[in-house]
Amino acid sequence: MLEGEKCLKCEKGKLRKVLDEVEPGIKVEAFKCGKCKEVWYSQEIMEKIEAMQKANAEERKLVKVGNSIAAIIPAKIVKKLHLKEKEKVFIQEENGEILIRASKV
Ligand SMILES: [Zn+2]
Repeated sequence: MLEGEKCLKCEKGKLRKVLDEVEPGIKVEAFKCGKCKEVWYSQEIMEKIEAMQKANAEERKLVKVGNSIAAIIPAKIVKKLHLKEKEKVFIQEENGEILIRASKV
């Protein structure tokens, strides 16, 4: 389906089937643009990746800080996103979920 199609990002390269490692040791079928190297996934694979990431979520207890409640961000995520103390993040509620976005991303 995506094989041989034009890349939606650069609109120049063609997509070629590759195996992409989304998590250590877990490879999925992906389509890589020959020009800008952007990697695309089919809807089906995308859903699998999302389900996997949800299953990967780490449980944390909320802690009280003054009048607010704080959640501890797991070290794995801190490392992956290179987060530092006092860094600004944006927190919003979306469909009953809390979304924390690092300001530099
Ligand atoms: Zn491209």
